[in-house]
Amino acid sequence: MPTGLPAPKLTVTVLGSGTSQGVPMIGCRCPVCLSTDPRDQRSRSSIYLAAPQANILVDTTPDMRQQALREGLDHLDAVLFTHPHADHIMGFDDLRRFCEIQGGPLSIYGSAETLAQLQRIFFYAFDPRKLVPGYVHVLPHTITAPFELGGIEITPLPVPHGAVSTLGFLFSRAGRKLLAYLSDCAAVPEPIRETISGVEVLIIDGLRDRAHPTHLTVSGAIEVAQAIHAGRAYLTHLTHEKTHVDRQRDLPPGIHVAYDGMKLVFDLQP
Ligand SMILES: [Zn+2]
Ligand SMILES: [Zn+2]
Ligand SMILES: [Zn+2]
Repeated sequence: MPTGLPAPKLTVTVLGSGTSQGVPMIGCRCPVCLSTDPRDQRSRSSIYLAAPQANILVDTTPDMRQQALREGLDHLDAVLFTHPHADHIMGFDDLRRFCEIQGGPLSIYGSAETLAQLQRIFFYAFDPRKLVPGYVHVLPHTITAPFELGGIEITPLPVPHGAVSTLGFLFSRAGRKLLAYLSDCAAVPEPIRETISGVEVLIIDGLRDRAHPTHLTVSGAIEVAQAIHAGRAYLTHLTHEKTHVDRQRDLPPGIHVAYDGMKLVFDLQP
């Protein structure tokens, strides 16, 4: 290292790794929901990327406020949305605190459909005539092609997930495919597999063992990870079907179970 300066890093934090109802589930007394292992406390699925020039949040779950407090988030440059299901957007109003700290509107990114749903539900945040200090205000950006934020290239990955259009995201830098995030998908079509082929880390929907109409199963997620030759893969959006420890025991080498608070650190070239 000629300069003696530490290499810039991209740190990815799994804010939440649970399915839409979270784990534990309200009113459930199963061994997973009663587990005292902190890795079995799964808030709704979301990640946070801290890059040298940009802090990026992916989705605003109903647990976003607690996730932000837990991880000490205090500045966001952009929020990316995967899709407008309730478990990915219902923390949206808590973006108000970031607007307040930063003294202005926050840029949000999503498909045209996702942004339209956000604007329908949180109409007050999109109206420039209602720019009241202390409340949420956003600048929407429609994702139609790859784009860049703070030196990180972001490639949208459209994947099937029932009736809504859903985006995964590939995060790259200087030709390195660092991370692919596919939180909610029933399948990963061939063109998307080519785009993310050889990615260093894949975080992918691994809902449960039993088939589901709009989510990958654990074996389906393993198939994708191995087919695209991911360096490592982490399952997310998990139900209360198995404990972290029991689930991990069954997985092949290179496939892991994500958990809330898990961090991945990538050394970047300056
Ligand atoms: Zn979801
Ligand atoms: Zn349970
Ligand atoms: Zn969903």
